[in-house]
Amino acid sequence: MLLTFEPVLARIAEEIEGLTDRGLPADYIPALAGADPARFGMAVAELDGTVYGVGEWRQPFSTQSVTKVFSLALALARKGDALWDHVGREPSGNPFNSLVQLEYENGIPRNPFINAGALVVTDQLHRITGDASGVTLDFLRAESGNRDLVIDREVAESETAHGDRNAALAYFMASCDNIANPVPTLLREYFRQCAIRASCADLALATAFLARHGLRADGSRLLTSSQAKQINAVMLTCGAYDAAGDFAHRVGLPGKSGVGGGIIAVVPGRCTLCVWGPGLDARGNSVAGVTALDRFTTLTGLSVF
Ligand code: GLU
Repeated sequence: MLLTFEPVLARIAEEIEGLTDRGLPADYIPALAGADPARFGMAVAELDGTVYGVGEWRQPFSTQSVTKVFSLALALARKGDALWDHVGREPSGNPFNSLVQLEYENGIPRNPFINAGALVVTDQLHRITGDASGVTLDFLRAESGNRDLVIDREVAESETAHGDRNAALAYFMASCDNIANPVPTLLREYFRQCAIRASCADLALATAFLARHGLRADGSRLLTSSQAKQINAVMLTCGAYDAAGDFAHRVGLPGKSGVGGGIIAVVPGRCTLCVWGPGLDARGNSVAGVTALDRFTTLTGLSVF
């Protein structure tokens, strides 16, 4: 079916206008707490790099956990299957920053999208490249075509100052020999990676390698199609915190959300999406974002099911 995305996006934006309860911005990172839940943007990128958008789709925001997808792809590309010796791929059913499962699973986090798992992935990427946050930023710049993407120092510092929970996760996993770098180095890299600012347009474009079965914007291969499938599958089962089941039920796409209010999603072989709305529900997912993606797949029929 030939689809024109503009009318669909316009209709979704109109519906989001009428959304009264949009949740609250994340307040555990002080630099994010002031964001206005009424803001909204959405972009769709086709595989050839054409992007459509509505609302504040060119407004940069704090990507936070959305970057876990990119660092995972970069680590998997370099380390291959051995990465899965350090991190699992099962939904956790627990909050994103939970410590409880680590102790009885010997410091091997359940999946790469809870904080413990992302710390392990960033650790491996940093061990291999010596510059985990830098290679992640470079990848986002290259795939989005936006050289101006930057790491927001204020957000990185704010997280460092309030990073006790992530430090606890990292030190515990270090005690289980599942962290290779000194913990302070790892935390710096992790917080810098989370603090990258990018817009819906940038992130929709940067995610497109997952819809292209592993091919980058320049046609070179980052991942095998099997590895791209693995990442899409983990996004579907683990990408929306402890509401991943509800997200799959409503949206029907591999997705990854972040506490900055962004969510990326993939329609394999067809297009990628990014939505942004800083108001979060109780489990940390953007209220406007999940609603918009739910409406997109319902209106277009573009889901993986
Ligand atoms: N930097 C945030 C943290 O580690 C990321 C949280 C998120 O977006 O899920 O707490």
